[in-house]
Amino acid sequence: MPELPEVETIRRGLAEVLPGKKITTFTVSLKKMYQPAANVPKRLAGRKVISVSRRGKVLMIQLDKDLTLLIHLKMTGQLLYKEPVRIGKTKSEKLVVAGGHPIPTMDGALPSKVTHATFTFNDESKLFYNDLRQFGYLKLVRNEDLGNVPILATFGPEPLEPEFTEKLFEEKLKKRSTTKLKPLLLDQTFIAGLGNIYVDESLNLAKIHPLRTAGSLTKAQRKALYQATKKVLRTSLRVGGTSDNTYVTIRGGKGDYLRRARVYHRTGEPCRTCGTPIRRLVVVGRGTHYCPHCQRAPKTK
Ligand SMILES: [Zn+2]
Repeated sequence: MPELPEVETIRRGLAEVLPGKKITTFTVSLKKMYQPAANVPKRLAGRKVISVSRRGKVLMIQLDKDLTLLIHLKMTGQLLYKEPVRIGKTKSEKLVVAGGHPIPTMDGALPSKVTHATFTFNDESKLFYNDLRQFGYLKLVRNEDLGNVPILATFGPEPLEPEFTEKLFEEKLKKRSTTKLKPLLLDQTFIAGLGNIYVDESLNLAKIHPLRTAGSLTKAQRKALYQATKKVLRTSLRVGGTSDNTYVTIRGGKGDYLRRARVYHRTGEPCRTCGTPIRRLVVVGRGTHYCPHCQRAPKTK
């Protein structure tokens, strides 16, 4: 599943190209992906894109007439945006923004057999939604109803927004003091947008073992974890997210974060701080990577 930096990278790409464009046609080939199923193509035709934002891992395309289209890529969604190019009399298309799961490859013909939605804009540019395993969805919501959309209503604070203060983080940790940090940080209602990669990376940077409970941290450790979370996400955003063999970024390039990962998928490789081999354990079903020297295990009673 793409995490915050990957979805934010796609958002930035789309925010450069979509605002101001009018949807001329919207075609759907897989009805279950649209909510509400009835009339969506009709309601989207003629709508103008105002802006592209994000909440957690959900992309939000604001349209005129007080409508918002939510797009959740889930496991295998892809968004591909192509612009028409004319060289002399020859017409072709250029892939300008691409993000999401890399299968099928993003350089193939579109629409493909996994294209489930196609937006055509007034300048003949097109946005394709592909989804191999069909877990993702598009949902059209009236702005006044956004507060009632369950996934939006339950998201925790955005870790890179000013609302996510050290004080808020401390308060939230206190309320969940018996929960282990790895599952806690993965919980989207605790912080929005963090997933397996960035949780492991943040805990390593803060030198905190993933099985420690929220209530066991010292004040200095809480501060270190708060800062590490922001730093890891910012670093990843700067390099276009992670590919993890799974995601590519805007303009088709692969995210560069994994090359500089501290622990994620580096089992047996030396810790970047102390050289001790990185270990892997499984916590709530998720592969968890840590340095046994820098991140001391909690004392067992
Ligand atoms: Zn270490």
